[in-house]
Amino acid sequence: MIAPPETTRTDSLRVSCMGASDVPGDGLGHPRVWLQIDPDVGFVDCGYCDRRFILNGGPADIDHDQAHSAKP
Ligand SMILES: [Zn+2]
Repeated sequence: MIAPPETTRTDSLRVSCMGASDVPGDGLGHPRVWLQIDPDVGFVDCGYCDRRFILNGGPADIDHDQAHSAKP
C-alpha cells in the first residue's frame, strides 16, 4: 500500500505551502510556494512535497477518507 498524500482543506483558492512547517529544520520543509486552486478542479498538489490542498465545498470536497480513490 502506498500512503495517500497528506491533504489540507482550505477555504481559499490561493494557498501557501512550506512543507512540514510544524517541523522546522528537519529537512522535510521547502521554500514557501504559493499555489492557486482551479475552481473547476477543486484541489491543487504542491510540486515540492505532494501535499494536496482541497477547496472546501469544491468538486474535490468529498467524504474525508475517500478523497484519494478519485486519483487517476
Ligand atoms: Zn509543499
